[in-house]
Order: sequence, then C-alpha cells, then structure tokens
Amino acid sequence: MLMAECRNTSFWLDGVSPMPVVSDSIKSEVDVLVIGSGYTGLQAALQIARAGRDVLVVDSGDLGQGCSTRNGGQISTSVKPSHDKLAQKFGSKRATNIRREGEFALEWIEAFVSEENIDCDFSRCGRFHAAHSPEHYEFLARDAEIVRKSESIPSFMVPKKDQFSELGTELYHGGVVFPRHASLHPAKYHHALLSIVLRAGVTLVGHCEAKLMNKTTEGFEVSTAKGIIKCKDVVVATNGYTSSLTPWLKRRIIPIGSYIIATDEIEPKLMQKLFPTKRIVSDTCKVVYYYRPSPDHKRVLFGGRVSAKETDPSISGPKLHKDLTRIFPDLKDTKITHSWLGTVAYTFDELAHTGCYNGIYYAMGYCGSGVSMASYLGMRLGQKVLGKPEGKTALDDLPFPTRPLYQGNPWFLPAVVSWYRWRDQQQIIKAQRLQVRKSFVA
Ligand SMILES: Cc1cc2nc3c(=O)[nH]c(=O)nc-3n(C[C@H](O)[C@H](O)[C@H](O)COP(=O)(O)OP(=O)(O)OC[C@H]3O[C@@H](n4cnc5c(N)ncnc54)[C@H](O)[C@@H]3O)c2cc1C
Repeated sequence: MLMAECRNTSFWLDGVSPMPVVSDSIKSEVDVLVIGSGYTGLQAALQIARAGRDVLVVDSGDLGQGCSTRNGGQISTSVKPSHDKLAQKFGSKRATNIRREGEFALEWIEAFVSEENIDCDFSRCGRFHAAHSPEHYEFLARDAEIVRKSESIPSFMVPKKDQFSELGTELYHGGVVFPRHASLHPAKYHHALLSIVLRAGVTLVGHCEAKLMNKTTEGFEVSTAKGIIKCKDVVVATNGYTSSLTPWLKRRIIPIGSYIIATDEIEPKLMQKLFPTKRIVSDTCKVVYYYRPSPDHKRVLFGGRVSAKETDPSISGPKLHKDLTRIFPDLKDTKITHSWLGTVAYTFDELAHTGCYNGIYYAMGYCGSGVSMASYLGMRLGQKVLGKPEGKTALDDLPFPTRPLYQGNPWFLPAVVSWYRWRDQQQIIKAQRLQVRKSFVA
C-alpha cells in the first residue's frame, strides 16, 4: 500500500522546533489588531511593533495554521498577468510597476532572511518551467524573450532533447529556466518569524477567531472567541480563509484548495536523475503542477490542484501520487509519507490586492504564489498603518473586482477545473500522438 503510513499533516512541520510559548489570553485594548498569523499578518505586525506601537495578532487556530506552514516553499516573481494584459487595463507605466513588485518581493525576502539570520534553507536554486506541449514550448520561448528584454528577467530555454539535464522525465516538451527563482523551508521560515515578532514585543494569541467587527469613533471593536478587543487600527491578513467577518473582501476572494504530498526517502542516485539541478519545477498545464526536491534532496514534494472541492487529504493523496508517477514512472513504488492541503486565495483579475477599505487595512489574493508576495505586502501593509509613504506599492488601491451575486462561495470552480483538466489532457494526448508519428516517420 503506497499510502499505508501516510500522515495528513504538513511534512514541513516535522522539521521544525516546537512553537514558541505564547499568550493564551487577549488584551482588551491595543493600538493595532492583526487578524491572521501567516506571513502577511506577522510581517505587518513586525513593522508596526518595531515602530513602538502595541500589536496583538490573533488566529482562529494554531498560529500559522493557514497556508504559511503548508506551502511548497517555491518563490517566483509572483505577478501572473502579462505586461500586455496589465497595460491594456492600467497603462504601460503602471503595468511595468506592478510587474516589478514581484521582483521586489523576491529581492526583499532574500535580504530579510539574510539580515535576520533566519535558518530556513533559502536557496536561489532556479525554476524549470516545463512545457506540456510543443506549442507551449514555443509560447514559453517567445514570452521569455519578451520579459528578458522588457523586464531584464534572465532565463534560458532547454529544448526537449536536453531536458534530462534539468528533469528526469520524458513527459514534457522542453521548458524554460529562471535561474533567479528560489526556494525555502516554509515552516522554518514561519517559526523564525514567530520568534522575531515575539522579540519585537507583539502579543500572539491562537484559537481566537475574530467573529464580528464594529467601527467606533476611536477605531474598532472586535468580538473574538476570547473576548472583545478595542483597537485604533485593524489589519486583515486572512487570505484564502477570508470569511463573513469582512464581507467586502470575501466577495472579492476565490478560495481554492491546493493539495500536496511528500514522498518517502528516495535513493540518492534516482534523486540525482530526477532533479539533477535541484531546481523547483512547475509546468504550463492550466491545472498546474508544482514540485521540488526537499531541502536535503531526499524526497519529492509534489503539489497540484487535483480537485476543486476535496477536503480529505487521504483522497487527494492517491490522486496526486498517480499524477506524480505519470511524470516520473520511476517513482511508482515509492511510498507517500504525507498528504495535506490548504486554501489559497485567487482573485478575478489574478492580481494580489492591498490597501485600506473603510478603515480596514488588508493584503491578500496572492493566487497561489504568496511566499514572497505575502511577506513583502505584509511588510508594506505595516508601513501603511504607520502612515509611511514607502508603504505604498503599485498594487495599492487597484480596482478590486467581484462578480454580480458572488458572495465568496465559488460554486463554479468544479466545472472550471474539470474543463481546464480536460483541455490539458487533450493537449498532452495530441503532443504524444505527434511524437509517435514523428518517431514512426524517422
Ligand atoms: C498546498 C499549498 C502549496 C503552496 N505552495 C506555494 C508555493 O510553493 N509558493 C508560493 O509562493 N505560495 C504557495 N502557496 C501559497 C502561500 O502559502 C500563501 O499565499 C501564503 O502563505 C499566504 O499567507 P497569508 O499570511 O496571507 O495567509 P495564511 O498563511 O493562509 O494565513 C491566514 C490566517 O488567517 C487566519 N484566519 C482567517 N480568518 C480568521 C479570523 N476570522 N480570525 C482569526 N484568524 C483568522 C487563518 O486561520 C490563517 O492562519 C501554497 C499554498 C498551499 C495551501
């Protein structure tokens, strides 16, 4: 049984020291209340506390129980819509500035990890972005050329014939390498952040859901599971877990499950064959797969969107294992030791959003790529609360779209995901047939 001893907890939590001891009771009055203890909330809290203000961070469950201790640890440059798409909406200059925020986020997180001396296996390992059809390889080549010229983002193409120098699979049709993309150990990074914010004087309280928020003349009054908190400012850092506490934000966020597994330890020789360059990997499928070697290069962490609705990791695990072995048949007998999931936040325009609405500061909607962006926008959000001009980013106060009648329940997702998956499969089958025909002719 490949899943026999599989645990439904994040693999990353095995490798971290115990959580720092934190307060169990809330303060009834603080300067700033931060709701959510992931990267966004902690980075915002850190900025504010270091400026001398009294900050309380609450989370509805264990601290960091959201995506920030359970992600793939891949760091890209995060901004998804192309320059052209953004320019059509916001003009070329703003489009350039928006795209640059992704680069800034990556540069900033590297500097932060280094300055704070955080041991979280940060590595500029680079990314291999694999094409699942020859057409997608051509598209990647054109796109890489454009961003190399217009945004100075370095990359190089790897054709199918050389693919084994990057990845031990026949499945793809070559790909592009972004050498500056990076990886880290998400839970080590989060644990270090907890210790840093504690040292900065922040109070952290878990199992304290914020349930209701009222605006008052002095600020806000927030009812939580542990009592009422009065504060001057509120920061909402709830991303994929955004609830009716903030209905305006909930109507703008599309919560989507992201699923991931960790394999058992793999023979060093086989790991070397599968990941010769130790890079992080993603592919061009619309229902994307993202995977990587563990920091010690002994296991594979493999994630994807196997379902739109599944909430049971013992069901998503075998599905992911099947997809993993489709890419790496060598792993068909390798056991899965961990299977888990989390909820990421998409937006209707594929952009992260940050600003202040009705006095509530927020940053969210990282569209599945929030390791660097959540950290960076969280930091900028903290600066905004302090009234510092450098807190403003090109993502600030963009129109934050919703859809008529959408209340935060993405009923349309199963159909959309199934359609995309079907299209990805058709493209893969077409490419395989073409390859067979070519080898037959040759
Ligand atoms: C399986 C998976 C893989 C991923 N892989 C990657 C990757 O490789 N690279 C990448 O860049 N990104 C990845 N992501 C996304 C990334 O992890 C997130 O974008 C990022 O962690 C968001 O941080 P955050 O602080 O905004 O939100 P979270 O870390 O999700 O924190 C939000 C917190 O708010 C709390 N909360 C919600 N409502 C309330 C309330 N009313 N009261 C109190 N607390 C509340 C929640 O309990 C939660 O802890 C992945 C996500 C998942 C799930």
